[in-house]
Amino acid sequence: GQFFLVYQPVIHSETQLPGGFEALIRWKHPKLGLVPPDEFIPYCESEGLIVRLTQHIMELAAQDAHRLIDVVPKGTKLGLNISPLHMTLDSFKADVRHFLDLMPTEHFIPLFEITERSMVQDGGAEKIFDWLHDCGIELAIDDFGTGHSALIYLQRYKIDYLKIDRGFVNSIGLETVTAPVLDAVLELAQKLKLQIVAEGIETEEQAEYLRQRHVDYLQGYLFCRPLPLEQLRDYYQQHVNGKLV
Ligand code: C2E
Ligand code: CA
Ligand code: CA
Repeated sequence: GQFFLVYQPVIHSETQLPGGFEALIRWKHPKLGLVPPDEFIPYCESEGLIVRLTQHIMELAAQDAHRLIDVVPKGTKLGLNISPLHMTLDSFKADVRHFLDLMPTEHFIPLFEITERSMVQDGGAEKIFDWLHDCGIELAIDDFGTGHSALIYLQRYKIDYLKIDRGFVNSIGLETVTAPVLDAVLELAQKLKLQIVAEGIETEEQAEYLRQRHVDYLQGYLFCRPLPLEQLRDYYQQHVNGKLV
């Protein structure tokens, strides 16, 4: 197929070891070359293709997971991006059950990344979140701070992680009005006992700022680019297994 997944490690701030990785889709078009997901995901959503694409992504991720068991520690989190549109459909639960059947769940903890948009959707989101938790799937709110920040939902819904949008991380060290907002978001997440993941970290200054504020997980080019399967295996051999012995 022309779709494949790359995986970006998410680093635990204190241990500096990867706690898991996020799957990101890549599309290799025969004529256009690599098409970025920002360009085709919205198209798939509007054309009713997102469910089939996500089913395919789930199958690819499960397949790849089996090929990582020997190098990745047990309990590693495997993050998938889920379209909020998909979650509202009747077929969603069946798709998730199928995914869990394929996944080596005794080794990986699946984590779904969902944007804020899904929380403000009318009806059902709360129940779906509970059902996903019952299935052993962890939940992260993605791109936090960019959408309809419905803060009230953070308290009401059972969420495990908040992923702070790259835009906030970018503003660190710059004289902008964003920095106080970032600090407020971090404080809020901590008060609500949510774990925090900051993404898009490119500089040591950004990483240090976030570590000082006790952000739990860090993700970004500074640590590692998204990697194809074979390179992710190498990464674990070098950064995790190499360190243990
Ligand atoms: P996202 O979920 O917020 O994913 C993070 C994006 O930031 C990824 O872009 C990743 O490659 C990029 N990134 C990571 N670290 C850095 C950094 O240090 N600097 C910069 N500038 N960028 C960094 P990517 O892979 O192009 O994906 C873009 C968006 O497309 C994703 O944003 C997500 O919304 C969507 N997407 C990607 N894969 C999937 C998928 O499998 N399913 C769905 N539904 N959406 C996906
Ligand atoms: Ca994501
Ligand atoms: Ca994000």
